[in-house]
Amino acid sequence: MTQTFEIAVIGAGMAGLSAATALSEAGHSVVMFDKSRGSGGRMSTKRTESGDLDMGAQYFTARDSHFRHALQGWIDRGWVAEWSPRLFIRNGDELVESPDNQQRYVGSPRMTSLSRGLLENLKLVSQTRLTGLQQTADDRWELQDEAGISHGPFDRVVVATPAPQAVPLLTDAAHLEQAAAQVEMQPGWTLALAFAEPLDTAVEACFVRVGALDWISRNSSKPGRQGLDTWVLQSNPRWAMGNLETEKAQVCQELRSAFAEVLGIALPEPVYEHAHRWLYARSENICNWGALAAPEKGLYVCGDWCLGGRLENAWISGQQAAQTLLERK
Ligand code: FAD
Ligand code: NAD
Repeated sequence: MTQTFEIAVIGAGMAGLSAATALSEAGHSVVMFDKSRGSGGRMSTKRTESGDLDMGAQYFTARDSHFRHALQGWIDRGWVAEWSPRLFIRNGDELVESPDNQQRYVGSPRMTSLSRGLLENLKLVSQTRLTGLQQTADDRWELQDEAGISHGPFDRVVVATPAPQAVPLLTDAAHLEQAAAQVEMQPGWTLALAFAEPLDTAVEACFVRVGALDWISRNSSKPGRQGLDTWVLQSNPRWAMGNLETEKAQVCQELRSAFAEVLGIALPEPVYEHAHRWLYARSENICNWGALAAPEKGLYVCGDWCLGGRLENAWISGQQAAQTLLERK
């Protein structure tokens, strides 16, 4: 390597972590920024006395050979384990078992074990929401945050946020701004529950095709989870869209009753419940961009929305952004 760059990566979800890891391993000096307290983005876990509850990504699959290679390293380090739940599907009035041969993986002992692991040797400036990027006279980048503080300058910037949050950061590169602006992202509600006694059901995970829900998982059936019988329910985007401003108490009540209906059992009172609204849960349109770039400006963009909303795609998108940057050196 002939030149070492100062690189900012905005967004410490899977895409940003993937890009930052590749750039750092190539010898560049990388600083990550995130508006949240930690890393992981939509791969998030709520830590509670009843157990740690995965509120965002529930599991992931691995189809790409490069991703599978990286995954093996994470398994070897103990950050990730296989999860083979008893899978069901609720279609119409029927709740039926729906086994398959798909291997699924989860962070262990919680989803964020993976993001924590990936962050290991990276520098993260947390609780810092960036609001704009400004190019300097010598073609570098200054980053402005919402408190009015300037960060940088950086030689290169990788934007790794959901599309709507990328738009205001891309105003200096019209084609990137336009591409991000055309991506619609759909909302979702997640409800986490803990019960003092295990629910009387064989279900450990269920794809739901009726009513408000899209997915149910017995969080405590994932490897390494301690605590009570915990469950995570996810609404479908249509229901979330119609309930964006609904009070949390009402959301809890409606999703709990949808849950009871899917399982066909009477639910006891949970000892813990927590609802979370995702404004940008998943992209509506499937793009096949991999990553986006304005190399002449030193600006790169990645995220699951560049490839299709799954953790694996977020990782691949981050790798592609990093690769494009490294090839341009
Ligand atoms: P994100 O994880 O959203 O990361 C972007 C980061 O940017 C965030 O940390 C955010 O705080 C930060 N950020 C945004 N704007 C700014 C700003 N202006 N300044 C600083 N920081 C900023 N995928 C699967 O494969 N399997 C699943 O089971 C699955 N289930 C899901 C369930 C839910 C409820 C949701 C919401 C998603 C699910 N997904 C699942 C999708 C998966 O979580 C995403 O594909 C993946 O986590 C996206 O990673 P990312 O890095 O592209 O974006
Ligand atoms: P996957 O192969 O397990 O599932 C893909 C899709 O195939 C599922 O959504 C489901 O509809 C169907 N499916 C798979 N196995 C099935 C079975 N045994 N019985 C019935 N249907 C089955 O996983 P993937 O391709 O890695 O997809 C990631 C998952 O992440 C998807 O389930 C997706 O819905 C979910 N996701 C959720 C959100 C959200 O906001 N809730 C956002 C992004 C992704």
